[in-house]
Amino acid sequence: MSVIINDTCITCDACLQQCPVNAIMDDISNPTGKKQYYVQPEKCVECVGIYDDPQCAAICPSIGCITWDMPFTAEFDQYFRNEEVYKLGVNKSGTLRSPAYKEKSYRKDILIEERGIGKLVQEEPENLEEVG
Ligand code: SF4
Ligand code: SF4
Repeated sequence: MSVIINDTCITCDACLQQCPVNAIMDDISNPTGKKQYYVQPEKCVECVGIYDDPQCAAICPSIGCITWDMPFTAEFDQYFRNEEVYKLGVNKSGTLRSPAYKEKSYRKDILIEERGIGKLVQEEPENLEEVG
């Protein structure tokens, strides 16, 4: 799958160094042309096998900026080919790196119903109970 960064990104750069697979591009390099950071879904592994949670979302100071998106699997090949949201890379022979070309790991405990633009990875902090 992937996680996706939305337009509430404040380009603070915190997530970029945090990603274990170098899936994040800054606002200058964002292949969609938007002035915000960008997760390459063809690289993102949702931190599976490396961390318990997506590290980009864990460090992001902008609550709601990073949300779940669909698994990067062949089932969602057409979805990820939508260039309005994503701009997939190509390999050396020019083949589009869509899910049909190569699937990526994703968190199977996050159901499809819990995925989609707007579904938060990072929950807002729970209200702390007052002490004393
Ligand atoms: S979820 Fe993990 S692998 Fe995916 S972009 Fe964020 S830090 Fe990188
Ligand atoms: S940590 Fe969040 S606000 Fe900062 S650059 Fe990454 S996505 Fe944008």
